[in-house]
Amino acid sequence: MTAAPQTTATTTISGWGGYPTQEAQVIIPRSLSGCKTELERHSSLIARGMGRSYGDSANAATVLQTTCCDHFIAFDDKTGLLTAEAGVTLRDILKITVKHGWFLPVTPGTSYVTVGGAIASDVHGKNHHVAGTFGQHVVSLTLLLGTGEIVTASPTHLQDLFHATCGGMGLTGVILVATIQLIPVKSAQITQKTIKAASLEEACEAFEVYSASTYSVAWIDCLATGKRLGRSVVMLGEHSDSGGLNLTVKDPVTVPIHTPAALLNSMTMRAFNIAYWAKAAHDKTQTVPLQPYFYPLDALGGWNKLYGKAGFVQYQFVLPKADGVSNMRTILTQIAESGAGSFLAVLKQFGPANKNLLSFPIEGYTLALDFKMSSSVVALLHRLDDMVAGMGGRVYLTKDAVMKELTFKATYPEWQEFEAVRHKYGALGKFASAQSKRLGLA
Ligand SMILES: Cc1cc2nc3c(=O)[nH]c(=O)nc-3n(C[C@H](O)[C@H](O)[C@H](O)COP(=O)(O)OP(=O)(O)OC[C@H]3O[C@@H](n4cnc5c(N)ncnc54)[C@H](O)[C@@H]3O)c2cc1C
Repeated sequence: MTAAPQTTATTTISGWGGYPTQEAQVIIPRSLSGCKTELERHSSLIARGMGRSYGDSANAATVLQTTCCDHFIAFDDKTGLLTAEAGVTLRDILKITVKHGWFLPVTPGTSYVTVGGAIASDVHGKNHHVAGTFGQHVVSLTLLLGTGEIVTASPTHLQDLFHATCGGMGLTGVILVATIQLIPVKSAQITQKTIKAASLEEACEAFEVYSASTYSVAWIDCLATGKRLGRSVVMLGEHSDSGGLNLTVKDPVTVPIHTPAALLNSMTMRAFNIAYWAKAAHDKTQTVPLQPYFYPLDALGGWNKLYGKAGFVQYQFVLPKADGVSNMRTILTQIAESGAGSFLAVLKQFGPANKNLLSFPIEGYTLALDFKMSSSVVALLHRLDDMVAGMGGRVYLTKDAVMKELTFKATYPEWQEFEAVRHKYGALGKFASAQSKRLGLA
């Protein structure tokens, strides 16, 4: 292979939350061989995909953006085995595979995510309780190591490297190619059932009652207090049997400029939450296309600009199942009292943890919500971090922008094993992000 021309620019980058920002040299190789050439040229860098992680995990002085390494290598429409370069997005995959009756085994809430980013964050979807994470459906991956060597790792070959790379936030090497097992579907439609839950306890009970449901998620009103605390709209989903395999992938309507931050304040958020709750129908079943069901926010390009120039942090934590509901109530009370929580709060149940060393999910309940950035938010998040850690939970690295090193090391107990694997495969110092430095990884 010969190195093809590439793009290099010095620019200000950030994650999807717009906080923090960093001046960076962004290199976009046109081919996999270009990734290797750039790795040799730079003493330290981090891989980057679509930049849909919220915080600073894909920020560094030198960034290797893989979005032009976006070729499909193989797709078997009989078995659903897909091999693609790491820069291919989930959106690209769906455009090709759904018409043949194959869907992603696990998908996050946006399709603008690369295969490399999905593996590095070991992303989860609304089906974690039955399907686990994205990494659990990766058959093998090809990785460019810090030494320049290219190796293939899988659950049965170089297992230590595989389990450090899935969820490893780009810190073991650059994922070049991955083979994924897709799931069969008969339709591009989802049968969705909506249930209104009057409190947090009712929402978590609904997760239990409908634990056999393939997809489940609850929109939760983080601003409601007292008896209404945690009131939710629980949404369940199953792949439909009818409706055909025609997937409509619409281009988004774009938010053109940064919205004045004052437009999003606790009054507008409270009004949104009350209206959303009132509009939701109880015990309603309807059929909806895949796109709006899984990726409602993809319809509005650049929606992150609604938070204004200072940006926002999406805070996602998980609490262990034992005492999970009462602990979640304690944290929700704190958030409701702060008045800083967003209208986008999502509650999910998680199934058991996997073998990936820095993977986020543990069995229990996870909540994700946005906080508009302000001088007081960092202190609030540190207080919440301490509460979550004290309850045996942890914060999701792909959304984190402020966690302290001590909190990270206390809540991701396998971090030392992770560092040992990085040492073994020549990754220490070679792959580093603003986040890995903040969290005290070498
Ligand atoms: C609207 C929205 C909804 C979301 N919903 C969910 C959800 O439901 N569940 C969930 O788990 N996540 C969710 N996310 C987060 C998102 O799925 C992850 O942050 C994902 O990793 C982003 O992929 P990316 O290609 O943009 O990667 P980036 O944001 O560019 O990078 C993320 C991490 O992956 C690493 N990385 C990227 N490419 C490579 C590569 N080729 N090799 C090695 N490392 C690499 C980077 O170094 C970085 O550490 C959501 C994000 C948004 C914006």
